Amino acid sequence: MILVCARADADWTTRGSSFDRTCAKCGWHVMVAVSSQRFLKKRPETPILCEQCWLALGGLGPEDEVRLPDKPEAVAEEIRGAVPNNWSKRN
Ligand SMILES: [Zn+2]
Repeated sequence: MILVCARADADWTTRGSSFDRTCAKCGWHVMVAVSSQRFLKKRPETPILCEQCWLALGGLGPEDEVRLPDKPEAVAEEIRGAVPNNWSKRN
């Protein structure tokens, strides 16, 4: 199982996202939404890939199964609450 995250410099983020994790392949900082933070707490060994690296690996294969990191309602609520991301403008 892998966790696919947007890169930390994405245009939008969700409230409470963390930016301290990095992609296992390219080392870029990624955004980890609260739902995924909860997921990683339960499964800290899960490798994280940024979406670019995941797509470069071929993205979703025919055998792959997509799972949300949390209940669909929780993930939908996060997406509805998305805010502009200022991470790349930080000092
Ligand atoms: Zn990457």
